[in-house]
Amino acid sequence: TKYVYDFAEGSKDMKDLLGGKGANLAEMTNLGLPVPPGFTITTEACQAFLKSGHEPEELADEVSEHLAALERVMGKTLGQSDDPLLVSVRSGAKFSMPGMMETVLNIGLNDQSVRGLAKQAANERFAFDSYRRLIQMFGKTVLGIDGEHFDDALEDAKRARGSESDLDLDADDLRKLVETFKEVVVERAGRAFPQDPREQMDLAVRAVFESWNTERAVIYRRQERIPAELGTAVNVCSMVFGNLDMESGTGVAFTRDPASGAQGIYGDYLQNAQGEDVVAGIRNTVPLADLEELDKSSYDELLQIMQTLEQHYQDLCDIEFTIERGKLWMLQTRVGKRTAAAAFRIAVQLVDQGLIDMDEAVARVTGAQLAQLMFPRFDADARKSAIGKGMNASPGAAVGKVVFDSYTAVKWSRSGEDVILVRRETNPDDLNGMIAARGILTSRGGKTSHAAVVARGMGKTCVCGAESLDVDTKRRVIRTRKGDEIKEGDVISIDGTSGEVFLGEVPVVDSPVVRYFEDGTVDEGDDLVVAVDRVMRHADGARRMSVRANADTADDAARARRFGAQGIGLCRTEHMFLGDRRTLVERLILADTDDEREKQLGELLPLQREDFVGILEAMDGLPVTIRLLDPPLHEFLPDITELSVRVAVAEARGEPRENDLRMLQAVHKLHEQNPMLGLRGVRLGVVIPGLFEMQSRAILEAAAQRIQAGGVPRVEIMVPLVANVQEFETVKQAIIQVAREVRTETGVHLEFLVGTMIELPRAAMTADQIAEAAEFFSFGTNDLTQTTWGFSRDDVEAAFFSAYLEKGIFGVSPFESLDVEGVGELVRIATEKGRSRRPGLKLGVCGEHGGDPDSVHFFDRVGLDYVSCSPFRVPVARLEAGRGDR
Ligand code: ADP
Ligand code: MG
Ligand code: MG
Repeated sequence: TKYVYDFAEGSKDMKDLLGGKGANLAEMTNLGLPVPPGFTITTEACQAFLKSGHEPEELADEVSEHLAALERVMGKTLGQSDDPLLVSVRSGAKFSMPGMMETVLNIGLNDQSVRGLAKQAANERFAFDSYRRLIQMFGKTVLGIDGEHFDDALEDAKRARGSESDLDLDADDLRKLVETFKEVVVERAGRAFPQDPREQMDLAVRAVFESWNTERAVIYRRQERIPAELGTAVNVCSMVFGNLDMESGTGVAFTRDPASGAQGIYGDYLQNAQGEDVVAGIRNTVPLADLEELDKSSYDELLQIMQTLEQHYQDLCDIEFTIERGKLWMLQTRVGKRTAAAAFRIAVQLVDQGLIDMDEAVARVTGAQLAQLMFPRFDADARKSAIGKGMNASPGAAVGKVVFDSYTAVKWSRSGEDVILVRRETNPDDLNGMIAARGILTSRGGKTSHAAVVARGMGKTCVCGAESLDVDTKRRVIRTRKGDEIKEGDVISIDGTSGEVFLGEVPVVDSPVVRYFEDGTVDEGDDLVVAVDRVMRHADGARRMSVRANADTADDAARARRFGAQGIGLCRTEHMFLGDRRTLVERLILADTDDEREKQLGELLPLQREDFVGILEAMDGLPVTIRLLDPPLHEFLPDITELSVRVAVAEARGEPRENDLRMLQAVHKLHEQNPMLGLRGVRLGVVIPGLFEMQSRAILEAAAQRIQAGGVPRVEIMVPLVANVQEFETVKQAIIQVAREVRTETGVHLEFLVGTMIELPRAAMTADQIAEAAEFFSFGTNDLTQTTWGFSRDDVEAAFFSAYLEKGIFGVSPFESLDVEGVGELVRIATEKGRSRRPGLKLGVCGEHGGDPDSVHFFDRVGLDYVSCSPFRVPVARLEAGRGDR
């Protein structure tokens, strides 16, 4: 195996072997751009090291060869005492990863070569500045010393100078600092700072290898599903110096604005500085445009290079560069991160520039980015300055009064107030308050904290880990870093998309993208909407799967249709049993004679029919899947505890109420330990005479009515929670019987389908038998996930999912994104078995996963005909289905 590649030997397509940084350094080298020469140690060397615990035998020799070649090119040897070659050792995995070792600069300096460097550069200050940086970085990243020890010593030195800026430290100060740093190393690491340049380099390389397995890196990989065996590459790059003098400096640049996508000059530059100084904020940078004044020829060259890179990568690139005494050097490039809005704008700009085609443009934006653009946001014109900032844990914009506990949140929201629940961190006890609040703000915890996970699950705005805010729940105040106090009842606004927190009310505006979906018109002046429109049209033309919506009312159905839904994949009938109709349902459940039951069903029938007529009208000409009653009946009855108390109180007063007593008996009778696994779904249809018949009749009469009115209803009746084919057949027979009756009564010829949900593992495993009777399947992936994992969805998210996510047991909740390996396998099996028995079997999915970008690709891959999701997610699903399988 070849373990080391010269920069000139690689290319951008070799990321697996050379890592992202190495592959792009190679690409730039081969483009003829000014990259300081160097070489890359491959990920395979790292893999071998991690497997055996030592470097592969050939590695040392190969490194020596490449180092010797580098020394020949540079005309000096590593750490040569009178004129040292210095190098940086830089980690670079295929995917950039937090928790990995960072870079060590200036390797090759020691007590001798630092003097050589000083003489060569005729700049002693520069040489000792470089040396103290080496000891600091090496100490931190290779020897594992807490950086604070070095930072403190640096602060002391500045204080002794009476200055804030490291630029004011002179050569003497820095020489002393080097001595102090060396003492820190001995004290903290129990060894002297290594003077042998090659040893410095080898130790740094090994430290990069080892950092692959730091706890943070491991957890990050688990969460992001990055394979643990990839390993990292290591780049050894000859040093160029931005810290030589004021004619030198270092900077970062973007070929376009990563925030808006606009073309122009974006970036920051810092004179007389090295490496991270730009982003570390130790001194104020200047905008990149100012470089034109400072060094016109380097500036012009940089612009030229940026153009070359954009043309070459056909995308926005970000860049790291250094200028050494007026000579420009490129140190890194990659296709840059961007905001959601920029992604859409850039994609169509590149099409207009002839760099990519529309297929590629559609591939370059994601459903997740589109979803971000659809959240309401704070009015940009009315924005104020933030009082704090945390993690953007769950998007959206929320305004409300500050409350510090769940109880108050519930109480205030019941009386009509909008509240923001503010906690240090949340736990399962806060759940009711989280439900009641408009948004959630915590001062601790990251994106996998309890607050973040639960809020995302509920689709609720959340900012977490706003550490600059001190949340004092005892005294009921938030203290800002400036010392201001926000009391309970004060209004704040939180931005779940940016993580910002504002005092007072910031006006919320609808997203222009949602407005566009709502009314279908494109405001030509809004380039974002124009871009979204172009991308959506192309995606719609490219996709195979259709997209339906989950909608229970005529209004929702109409909205979904405007959003591009091609039918309803799930119309839940239980919502039609609530509100005023509750008493009817209660009486139905309490009925103890057939007559009584029939009477109650008879009263519900016309009400249900009306609902269906409205929905079928809104979706005229498109398929509408209506699910027969699914939830356990006790959900329609009063709460057992409340009712028991009421009965007890009444009895104590000596005035027992007959109705309450009967109700309590019924509630007790229907009480179940595990209602989600109890009397629900198809089981209701089998057990309760007349219930599914009434619903089917309401559906079919509504269809007949629509036909008589000249409409085109396309009804699909869906039976939930089927586990075996006999269950399904029992219900199907009854539906067919009802259809015959309706046909005779109305004289209307009805066409409709009867199908089932596949949401139990047994249904998936016997899908061939079920397909004999069922004319379509719809995967209920929420219940299928519950029953496959044995997770009670209503409990587990609040109870322990945050711990699972934090430990990386899964990267995302299986309720959010389909568990392809487990639940997905059942979907695949059911698809195959179902179609083996009924080749044209129509297949869809109606769980929450239908609108989840990653899951959509899986459903496309296994060959489902459609996905169905909430109306708001319909555009997201349309886009993802049009992006093909990536
Ligand atoms: P990261 O992945 O954190 O950006 P880098 O390896 O790119 O780490 O290096 C950190 C900083 O050091 C960057 O600003 C980079 O430009 C700078 N740097 C790295 N190698 C060299 C070098 N050979 N000469 C000058 N600066 C360098
Ligand atoms: Mg970098
Ligand atoms: Mg279900």
